[in-house]
Amino acid sequence: MNIPQSNLPRIVIIGGGFAGINLVKSLANKNFQVVLIDKRNYHTFQPLLYQVSSSGLEPDSIAYPLRKIIKKHHTTFFRLTEVEQILPEKNEIITSIGHLTYDYLVLATGTKTNYFGNKAIQSSSMPMKTVPQALDIRSLILQNFEKAAIADSKSEREAFLNFVIVGAGPTGVELAGAIAELKNNILPRDYHDLDPDDMHIHLLEGADRVLPPMSEHASKKATQFLNKLGVKIHCNTFVKHYDGTMVTTNSELKLESETLIWAAGVTGAPVQGLNADALIEGANRYNVNQFNQIEDYANIFAVGDIALMASEEYPKGHPQVAQPAIQQGNLLGKNLVRLIENKPLKPFVYKDKGSMATIGRNKAVVDLKHYKFGGFFAWFIWMFVHLMSLVGFRNRVIVLFNWTYNYINFDKAARLIIRPFKK
Ligand SMILES: Cc1cc2nc3c(=O)[nH]c(=O)nc-3n(C[C@H](O)[C@H](O)[C@H](O)COP(=O)(O)OP(=O)(O)OC[C@H]3O[C@@H](n4cnc5c(N)ncnc54)[C@H](O)[C@@H]3O)c2cc1C
Repeated sequence: MNIPQSNLPRIVIIGGGFAGINLVKSLANKNFQVVLIDKRNYHTFQPLLYQVSSSGLEPDSIAYPLRKIIKKHHTTFFRLTEVEQILPEKNEIITSIGHLTYDYLVLATGTKTNYFGNKAIQSSSMPMKTVPQALDIRSLILQNFEKAAIADSKSEREAFLNFVIVGAGPTGVELAGAIAELKNNILPRDYHDLDPDDMHIHLLEGADRVLPPMSEHASKKATQFLNKLGVKIHCNTFVKHYDGTMVTTNSELKLESETLIWAAGVTGAPVQGLNADALIEGANRYNVNQFNQIEDYANIFAVGDIALMASEEYPKGHPQVAQPAIQQGNLLGKNLVRLIENKPLKPFVYKDKGSMATIGRNKAVVDLKHYKFGGFFAWFIWMFVHLMSLVGFRNRVIVLFNWTYNYINFDKAARLIIRPFKK
């Protein structure tokens, strides 16, 4: 892999997500040789993927080159490749471009979409975990509008204009709100040959309310906002089958739709090679102690979504959101420095900064520990937090510009089919 030999201990980090980049930053120019590996050459700001899918933002404003993050880190290297296997007995990893040995290994590989074993849904639905997938959704939505404009019958037209989103967690709710804004603001202006009343957005959720991970208050407010935007909510509803045109559920509900967006869950993305006990079955996450060390491996760590650190407060591990990943990445960097200085490691304690979701223009919900609120102020806070969390000044400026432009003009300017989606 062409990594130079060095006298410094080598840390290999797999994954340049929130956990990986914060770990890399906290190891900048310390007494290590650091090798960051990712199968993509950029960091993805996943919380705003839905805005790429719904034509609100260009993809390059939510992605950031990993090499740019490490440009001033003199002993850090980046390699673009997928890690295929770990050989812990040899302290070595196997990638698609060769082998590499390590002194310390950190797994920060995050999650992948969970289809719960349903192959039909996997092959016909649209996941939204990566930038290319978000672009596919954007293309499909716009292609459907074009096809609806030339459809021969009302039922054919409605199949193109029926958008079904499965999973009413923050991702599903945010996407439903954004597609509803396309219907309410864009269709009447740009698609004179389409009747907005023919377009329907269905949000399906297995639990008995939207936003199940958030408070009852957030859920109620979000339901009100979604109703106002015209989104049809179906709770206690599981999708059983989808063949590319018909959605079949556990209830009487059947929906004819060319678009099923799958936002119903994720599962860990581990790398092969560690013993079976290292992974918690079902969760598919590495079982780590309070220092993010994987059970039975002194020099292998896991951080972020892929790590499950059970504690009294979080018996099933921390929520799979950005904050635990950021905080664990930061702390592990400091702990690795302590490790080689023979100082005691600091245990991880999660600082929960609250959770939030936006449902559209002026509409968001925020859950803080002692205060829950929704509406314009929540929306403003949501925008500020997301803007400040984006990686890179340029990205922040571009996103701010786009949001301001879209807000003033009720527009979603990135309505481009650059790479047509083929089913
Ligand atoms: C659509 C969506 C919306 C979200 N919205 C929010 C939100 O609003 N707020 C919030 O807090 N959280 C949100 N999340 C969750 C949040 O994005 C994750 O919790 C966070 O990204 C976890 O960070 P991570 O570093 O553990 O993993 P990730 O950010 O997923 O990064 C994992 C990295 O590992 C790389 N990788 C994986 N396997 C390999 C391999 N074998 N070889 C090489 N590279 C590999 C991947 O390419 C990726 O870059 C959202 C997630 C999604 C999908």
